[in-house]
Amino acid sequence: MPTFDIRVYGDPVLRQKVAPVTAFDGGLARLAEDMIATMHAAPGVGLAANQVGVQKSLFVFDIGDGPQVVANPRISESRGEWTFEEGCLSVPGLYWPIVRPKEVLLSGQDLDGEDIEIEGDELLGRVFQHEVDHLEGVLLIERLDPDQRREAKRILRARALGLPEEDAPGRAAAR
Ligand SMILES: [Zn+2]
Repeated sequence: MPTFDIRVYGDPVLRQKVAPVTAFDGGLARLAEDMIATMHAAPGVGLAANQVGVQKSLFVFDIGDGPQVVANPRISESRGEWTFEEGCLSVPGLYWPIVRPKEVLLSGQDLDGEDIEIEGDELLGRVFQHEVDHLEGVLLIERLDPDQRREAKRILRARALGLPEEDAPGRAAAR
């Protein structure tokens, strides 16, 4: 199964909003299969279509119970609060404790275009919120508090310049 290159921070495709899925055909099923292969190879627990350069409202996830696909997802309910060390395949190797709702109800469609609803608690709820963010052009950097965001941007700038992350100006002071 072919795998895609995962787009990383700085790629403008990650900032663009995606278009709704309207054709539930073989092409969509193949895209989902290749996204699942890409997610498993990474390895990761979720992957949004725009992370592989496809501007469609679709994501795949697998937190260990087998892969699933959701088209046109939206969070219709959320409850509670939960802190989790969150990372992103498009911001590789970096994790931050991020607070978000603990439980969510995700609505969307399956590959046949049938309406589906999935309850997500803790890790699953976090994956749903993270992937819906991606499809709206939002990266986890936007979910950090101002201090975390400053440090994250320093590290990412150093990476973009090819500097070792330790040499990012101010990183030591921020720790
Ligand atoms: Zn991500």
